[in-house]
Amino acid sequence: MAVRLVVFGRQGAGKGTQCKLLAAHYGAPHISTGDMLREAAASGSDFGRQAKEIMDRGELMPDEIMLGIIKERFGAADVVEHGFLLDGFPRTLAQAEALLNQTTIDVAINIEVPEQVVIDRISSRRVCANGHTYAAGDDAIAGGTCPEDGTEVVQRADDTPDAVAARLATYAAQTLPAVHHLDEAGLLVTVDGLGTPEDVSARLVAAIDERLGH
Ligand code: ADP
Repeated sequence: MAVRLVVFGRQGAGKGTQCKLLAAHYGAPHISTGDMLREAAASGSDFGRQAKEIMDRGELMPDEIMLGIIKERFGAADVVEHGFLLDGFPRTLAQAEALLNQTTIDVAINIEVPEQVVIDRISSRRVCANGHTYAAGDDAIAGGTCPEDGTEVVQRADDTPDAVAARLATYAAQTLPAVHHLDEAGLLVTVDGLGTPEDVSARLVAAIDERLGH
C-alpha cells in the first residue's frame, strides 16, 4: 500500500531521524531534499556548488528548482509504487500549493519542539559524510570518526550559530505559511517532539495510523 506523508519540523526537531524510522516503518521512500542537495554539493558539480553557497547562508533554493527536483523524483518507480515520505519539502507556500495540486497527501505531521531546545540541539550536532548524526561529546565519536562507517565526524557548515539563526528565521518566515496551508487543507497533525527518539517515533506512528484509519 502506498502512503504519502509530509513531515514538518524546525531545524533540530529530530525530523531527519524520525523520517528514517517512519520510512522504514511504512515502507515508503524517504525523500529528503536537504540530503539530495548535500549529495549534489558533495559531487562538486556547478549546480552543487551553487546549492552549497545557498545552504551555507541558511537561505532557500529557488522554488522552480525544487519543484523540478521533486517532480522528477515523483516519477521514479519506487515512489509510484510505495508513495513517499517527504522531509524538507514543501518549504514555502508556493511549494505547498504546487504539491497539493500535483498529488494527494494522506497526512502531514508537524514535530513540535520549543525553539531554545532546537538551538541547543543543533549547536551540538555532529555528522559524518554519510549523514549519521551524533551529539558533540558523545563517547562513540571521541576519535573523530563515525563508528558506523569510519568517515570523519564534523559540524555541518550550516550548523554554526549564525547559520542556525538564519535558518530558524527562514523557517518562521517562509515555511510556517506552508505548514498553515496543509493545516487549512485539513491534513496537519501536530505531535510533541520532546523525549527519546523511540518515544517520539511511537507517538508519530500512532498519530499517522489514526489518520490513515488503521
Ligand atoms: P534543516 O531542516 O536542518 O535546515 P535540510 O537538510 O532539510 O535542513 O535542508 C538544508 C538546506 O537545503 C536548507 O537550509 C535549504 O537551503 C535547502 N533546502 C532543502 N529543502 C529545500 C526546499 N524544499 N526548498 C528550498 N531549499 C531547500
